[in-house]
Amino acid sequence: MRRLRTVEIILSSLALMAAFKAVAFEQPTTEERLKAIGPTDALPRALKRALTIEGFAPLCAPRQQDWLAVHPESGQAFEEFRREQPNRPDAQRRIIYLQLLESFSEKHSPSTEMLRQYAAAFFQMEVKILLPVNLVPGDFTSRTNRITTRRQILTRDVLRWLQGRLPEDAFCVLGITMEDLYPDPSWNFVFGEASFRERVGVFSFARYDPAFYGRTQDGDYQKLLLRRSAKVLTHETAHMFGLAHCIYFKCVMNGSNHLQESDARPLPLCPVCLRKLQWSIGFDVVKHYEQLHQFCQRAGFEDEAARIALRLKEVREEEHK
Ligand SMILES: [Zn+2]
Ligand SMILES: [Zn+2]
Repeated sequence: MRRLRTVEIILSSLALMAAFKAVAFEQPTTEERLKAIGPTDALPRALKRALTIEGFAPLCAPRQQDWLAVHPESGQAFEEFRREQPNRPDAQRRIIYLQLLESFSEKHSPSTEMLRQYAAAFFQMEVKILLPVNLVPGDFTSRTNRITTRRQILTRDVLRWLQGRLPEDAFCVLGITMEDLYPDPSWNFVFGEASFRERVGVFSFARYDPAFYGRTQDGDYQKLLLRRSAKVLTHETAHMFGLAHCIYFKCVMNGSNHLQESDARPLPLCPVCLRKLQWSIGFDVVKHYEQLHQFCQRAGFEDEAARIALRLKEVREEEHK
């Protein structure tokens, strides 16, 4: 089973740091960024416009603890992605399922309905929520983390459980939980783990909750938790479509080594990653941007809504030329 371990993992990062200390990330040039998008001349006008690079900032050189300082990735151009023949949705496997693991309390969790709506807008696919299941000891291995003293669930058990329950019409099933996770007894924790060939994954939002670190819930608490969870949900789900981490622009597909770095990731996809997802799903980019814009307005993500509105205007204008 080929596993894409979501290595936004502190322990692995520290271990790898020594091994890769000497390798420095080289920022792609503008030519390399354009090459990663690939030729767009034969594409429909709106899509072609959506794949232009104006308004997308290059990814900055990483600081010491950042993802690319620790994991020297070389990027995945659109053509490379296509050559890898990743899973694509089809008439039979067409639904993204979110399996809730344990309940999501209103006070300490993002709204699962808002997450569902966000994923549906982002992927332009049907997204369904499966009723919560309890992580019963005996079915799922758990332990108490020595540092946090909180319960943690072994990801391997969850992935196996999800695999046995994959609905026939599922493109993928993602277990989402507010419980903390670990992938192996030797690890401190993991944000999530997925097997994209098996089409199952599990992700925890526990460490995106400011309360996890003992911080008080201020006025923007719910908005912050929703924004972080929406980002991790789309990032991890996009891995299920075969998208690797992005090194070309500031993008939701950038790797992230710590909370500050993941907070700095924008919500939308850059042109390289947008092209991959659009090719995989075949969605209308105007609708993708329209629904993302509407969602950001509803959620009170003003900055993102304004940025997406600008892009949407340009793409729509091109469509109507
Ligand atoms: Zn990732
Ligand atoms: Zn990208």
